[in-house]
Amino acid sequence: MIRSLRGMNDTLDIEDSQRFSYFIQTATRIAKNYGFRFIETPQLEETALFKRSVGESSDIVGKEMYQFTDKGKNDVCLRPEGTAGVVRAFVQNKYDRQDTVQRLFYHGTMFRYERPQKGRLRQFHQFGCESFGESNILEDASLILMVRDIFSALGINFTLKLNSLGDQNCMPAYRDSLVSFLQKHQEEICEDCQRRKSTNPIRVLDCKNSHCQDIYANAPKLMQNLCEECDTDFKALSSILDEHGMAYEIDTHLVRGLDYYSKTAFEFISTEIGAQSAIAGGGRYDRLVEFLDGRATPAIGFAIGIERLMELIQMPEISREGYYFGAMDENSIHTIYAIGMKKRVSDKVTIGYKARNLKAHLKASDKANAQYCVILGENELNNGTLWVKDLLNKTEFEIPQKEF
Ligand SMILES: [Zn+2]
Ligand SMILES: [Zn+2]
Repeated sequence: MIRSLRGMNDTLDIEDSQRFSYFIQTATRIAKNYGFRFIETPQLEETALFKRSVGESSDIVGKEMYQFTDKGKNDVCLRPEGTAGVVRAFVQNKYDRQDTVQRLFYHGTMFRYERPQKGRLRQFHQFGCESFGESNILEDASLILMVRDIFSALGINFTLKLNSLGDQNCMPAYRDSLVSFLQKHQEEICEDCQRRKSTNPIRVLDCKNSHCQDIYANAPKLMQNLCEECDTDFKALSSILDEHGMAYEIDTHLVRGLDYYSKTAFEFISTEIGAQSAIAGGGRYDRLVEFLDGRATPAIGFAIGIERLMELIQMPEISREGYYFGAMDENSIHTIYAIGMKKRVSDKVTIGYKARNLKAHLKASDKANAQYCVILGENELNNGTLWVKDLLNKTEFEIPQKEF
């Protein structure tokens, strides 16, 4: 028997597939309400795209990519995340040359070759939004409130962590002061942090080593060293979130490793799936479009990992729906099939292909979760009627076939 690859699952179980569709429907509806439109980008892209956008020093690019040479000898890669492809499409289609705001959402499979564990697969799904061309802080607030609306609609509890990563004005000076702090603690910090000190010093702040974290509690904080513009924006964002009843925690250790990230960074955390787990992450990346050869365009986005959410989603009770059609003798099968097919234009319909007794049909209707069981028996055939049982309201009646 051929089995699926490790870390690559089928969504086949009825409950899982219902939850999955319910998530996509809910998130899509809310994204559209916020003015976003759907974009589909390829799952396979040139490896160079991710090297430049996600960054060669990241674990994703360094260790986790499904990278290979195709038959045309192109160096290609299955996308490990969604933003890079959307930005590439934005630039390639010259949207960066138009003076309009573009709001795009996507969902689809992503691939990372990492050790499979609970809630973490090698092929997984993300839903994300990217907004281009808007530097107004109200856009940052809108994206955060959109994630809130999605989680609230799904009955998912969360806490929001918020930080500012500064910009080209204030980040470099902060980075220097952090490096000199690290210099003083050179001997005490972990090996990873010693390496990060020269490659990507900001990333030391989210080191998982508790000893490192004790030391960094006294490290200089960017929040206290923001330039006037970044400081004004962060205060404005905080007060908009306050006005909209969105609680948040400022986490100065919530950082991103790459230079093109700026200002707003946020994470939604769930405490209901083991340790504190990020269920959505996002922020501003005002320089990424330029990084990928486009015209400088402010941008902000977020992504939600769907697998991690699955068990947190509160499904609405699924009520009985649609029709089951069955016949009691062989000669009536084609008649009931034709009636069912007509009804299928507007409703969910299951048709029994075999002649059976009433009890068997009622059982099949129940299994199909139909609201109405519609039967064509000998009497009904003679009278030109159909016998109907409403399984939701527990009523029975006969109606003329013409009415279907
Ligand atoms: Zn460390
Ligand atoms: Zn600044």
